[in-house]
Amino acid sequence: MDLSFANARLEKAYFFKVNQELIKAMHEQEEKKLEHENQELHWMKCPKCGHDLKQTKLSSMVVERCTHCEGVFFDKDEWTQLFGDPESHESFIKTLHSLLVGDGKPD
Ligand SMILES: [Zn+2]
Repeated sequence: MDLSFANARLEKAYFFKVNQELIKAMHEQEEKKLEHENQELHWMKCPKCGHDLKQTKLSSMVVERCTHCEGVFFDKDEWTQLFGDPESHESFIKTLHSLLVGDGKPD
């Protein structure tokens, strides 16, 4: 058996494996970088019009409100926290009124 040929195959296989691991790590790093850039680009931006969102106090909680179209955005479970029991229409109407015409608008 030609040892130089066998060694060349082992060396080629070794570097192939090392290169694959490096390429995979580079792809993962690039994906994280793109995800981070994407988050930075969209952080606190209105999904409807793209303008800045501003945190504003609404009732007992803080929600995000667009400085342009005045859309209001709720995080997970905030709707239920804000409006409480869905059967309670009084609470819903008071909070909705405050949200639309009351003191819930941004400064
Ligand atoms: Zn908007």
